[in-house]
Amino acid sequence: MVANILVGMLCAHLLCFSVMFLLISKRLHDQKMGMDFFAMGNLLLGCAYVLQLAEGGPAWSLMSVVNHTFTLASPVAYWLGAMRFFGHSVPLWRPLLAVAVTYSAAQVLVQWSLGPVARYAMLSGMSALLFLVMVITVIYGVRTFAKDFYGEMLFFAALITGICVLNALKFMKLLDGGLDALQMDRNFQLVFYIYMSSLATVLPPSIIWLVLRRLTDDLRNLAARDPLTQLLNRRGLTEALQRYFNSRKAVPAHLLMVDIDHFKRINDTYGHPIGDAVLCHVAEVLRTTVRGGDLAGRFGGEEFVVICLDTDVLGVMHLAERLRAAIEKQAIQVTGSDHPLHCTITVGVSRHFANAHVLEDAMREADAALYRGKAAGRNRIELAPS
Ligand code: GH3
Ligand code: MG
Ligand code: MG
Repeated sequence: MVANILVGMLCAHLLCFSVMFLLISKRLHDQKMGMDFFAMGNLLLGCAYVLQLAEGGPAWSLMSVVNHTFTLASPVAYWLGAMRFFGHSVPLWRPLLAVAVTYSAAQVLVQWSLGPVARYAMLSGMSALLFLVMVITVIYGVRTFAKDFYGEMLFFAALITGICVLNALKFMKLLDGGLDALQMDRNFQLVFYIYMSSLATVLPPSIIWLVLRRLTDDLRNLAARDPLTQLLNRRGLTEALQRYFNSRKAVPAHLLMVDIDHFKRINDTYGHPIGDAVLCHVAEVLRTTVRGGDLAGRFGGEEFVVICLDTDVLGVMHLAERLRAAIEKQAIQVTGSDHPLHCTITVGVSRHFANAHVLEDAMREADAALYRGKAAGRNRIELAPS
């Protein structure tokens, strides 16, 4: 009786959150982050439990075959949803249909050749395996594509390990004691459904939290980056600098003002879109040439800012020369033209500064040095006088 009430509650949770996930996915338009797949997973599992309640106990019927197929297809939908969340564009319907057809055929085969216990044991065994795959994926995700969700992913892995272990235990109990192990008044069944309904309560809000976190991270990123080059904008650079100077190990920094020489000519000769491509090229060289931890930004126009952290004048001049030489050397392929394009930069370097409040002063210093560099013939580096 108690186990049946638990299964009823489980159905209600799964189906309600299925609708909720679907509504959220409709709002997310292009980037659904797997919410539609999670909705499908919940729907399949919810329907499977409805069928289980309707059936009353182990049986060999079409309803039971559908129930088992839905139960097994749901972790597949969850796994595909997780892949979507991690940014892989996996399909939903084809893999689900393949699993449904294959598993339904496997059930008929196993029922006829090995009997009902084997069919129920197959479901528990396969579920344990699928949830194990899910745990491995989540742990792999923490080390690769979901490093920023470390705590959340470990929490998920721990909870899913629980389902995996319970299904493995159910598998062994079925092999040991036959279909009696599925009696709803058994202590094991009680523990199984208490755990499942706890998960059905805890996991969906956790998934919604992950989606919210990803959305707010995206928004923060959008607000901190220049849309053309994806370098930091003024706001992003100021925030990153503040974080750096707030950290204990912060030591003085230098600011480099980088300006493309005769950029107007490039725009006038090749057109604005090629000008944009040149800006992206210079941004890429900056990104790949600065040291890890240094900050590169574009505040608009054809001027770039690099903040060189944790180095002395010699180090910063060395970096500026590396940047200048790299830009001068590299050819930019222009679509529709046989001749690659070359450009140069002039760099103004500020004196060292040690807090984010004097960023404007450092910019003025670097700008004045840059102006001198332009006047002295361009394609050169000029250091602010100390
Ligand atoms: P100098 O060597 O003295 O720096 O000469 P310059 O021609 O590079 O300098 P100037 O400041 O006169 O020209 C900057 C040009 O950059 C003018 C403007 O049309 C162009 N520009 C500003 N923002 C963008 C942009 O986002 N895309 C493109 N393609 N051009 C831009
Ligand atoms: Mg310029
Ligand atoms: Mg300029």
